[in-house]
Amino acid sequence: MSLEPSATESRAGGILRIDLGAIVANWRLLKGKLANGADCAAVVKADAYGLGMAEVAPALHKAGCRVFFVALAEEALALRALLPDTEIHVFSGATADSLPDLARQRIVPVLNSLEQIAAATAFARTSGTALAADIHVDTGMNRLGLEARELAALAGDPGRLAGLDLRLVMSHLACADEPGHPLSARQLAAFHAARAQIPALAGATPSFANSAGIFLGPDYHFALARPGAALYGLKPQNSAPNPMAQVVRLQGKILQVRDVDTPMTVGYGAAHRVTGKARIATVGVGYADGYRQSLTNRGHAYLGDMRVPVVGRVSMDLIALDVSQAPAAAAVPGALVDLLGPQHDADALAAEAQTIGYEILTGLGRRFHRVYVPAKESQPA
Ligand SMILES: *Cc1c(COP(=O)(O)O)cnc(C)c1O
Repeated sequence: MSLEPSATESRAGGILRIDLGAIVANWRLLKGKLANGADCAAVVKADAYGLGMAEVAPALHKAGCRVFFVALAEEALALRALLPDTEIHVFSGATADSLPDLARQRIVPVLNSLEQIAAATAFARTSGTALAADIHVDTGMNRLGLEARELAALAGDPGRLAGLDLRLVMSHLACADEPGHPLSARQLAAFHAARAQIPALAGATPSFANSAGIFLGPDYHFALARPGAALYGLKPQNSAPNPMAQVVRLQGKILQVRDVDTPMTVGYGAAHRVTGKARIATVGVGYADGYRQSLTNRGHAYLGDMRVPVVGRVSMDLIALDVSQAPAAAAVPGALVDLLGPQHDADALAAEAQTIGYEILTGLGRRFHRVYVPAKESQPA
C-alpha cells in the first residue's frame, strides 16, 4: 500500500473515511442487546444514512445480517441488485405501479393504509399467487400506518387481507430517544392491542424497535429490531453516553493560511470581525458538501488535539477557521483538520448546527474523496 495520497485524494477538499468494521461492530452490539433471540435487521434507507448503501449493505450481509429495510421502492430495487438473496422490506409500501417490479424482485412492501392493502390484494388476485407483505400499525407516530378506524375495518372484514402472505406486523416509536417518555408505553400497549384485535396478524412476525427502542429494554424488542442511526454511530439516547463505535471521520484540507493583524473582517457579509493579531486557515469544505451554513460562527473543528472555531460565514466550497492558538507548524496548507471525528462526532456538530445527527450524515456531500475501511473477516454472528 502506498503512503502517497492518490490523485483524487490530493485534489479533494475533504476526505471522508467510513469504517465498515465499526458499522458491523455496532450491528453486533445491538443484536447482542436483544432479548429472547430476537433478530436484528439493518435500515439502509437514504443510501445507508449517507454513508453508501453499496458498501454498507454487503458488509452487514457478510457479517450475518439477513433482513434489510429501505424507504423507497427504487432503493429496494438497487439493494436487490447488490444482495440477490436477502430479505428486503420497503417502508413506503407499494402502488399498483410498483407492485409488479417489487414482487418480481421478492421485495416485501410495508402496507400502510387500507388503500395500499387493497392494491396489494388486487395484485395478488390477478397474479394468482400470494403476495408477501407487511402491515404497519400506527400506534401514535401519526405519520404512516393503519389508524384505529382502519384497524377496526380490518377486524370487521378479515377478507380484506385475502391473498396476502403476511410477514411482519410493525409499528414505529415516536419518542424512544427519551427513556421514560409516556408515549412509548402507550405505543407499546397499542401495538399489543392491535395484534390481539386482528387474528390474521397473530401469525406475522412483530417488529417494533428502532435504534433507540432497543435501549428501552426487552419489552420493546419483539422478534425483529430495525436500527438505522446507531449502526452509523449516532447516539441512540439523548441523555446517556453514546455506546456506539464511531464510524465517520471527515477531514477538511487547509488550502491557505493568512495572518491578519489589523482590524478586518472574514468572508461573505463580513460576518466575523478580527480585532487583534490572528491566523485564519481556509479549508476546502463548504455547504455544498453538507457542512451546513448554520455552522457560521458556531462550528468547531480539531487541528490535532486543538479545538478551532469556524469564523465567518460558511460558503459553498470553503470555511475559515481561527487557528491563532495552534502551533504554526500544524496550520499549514495541505494539513488536514477533523470536521467530524472522535473528538467531535456527528451529534456534536449537529448540536452546533441546530439540527440532528441524522441530517448531518444524510447531508454529507458527493465531492469528498471517500475511503472505506473494510470490516475484518470473521465468523458471521
Ligand atoms: C428510519 C426508520 C427506522 C430506523 O430508525 P433509527 O432511529 O435510525 O434507528 C426504523 N423504522 C422505521 C419505520 C423507520 O422509518
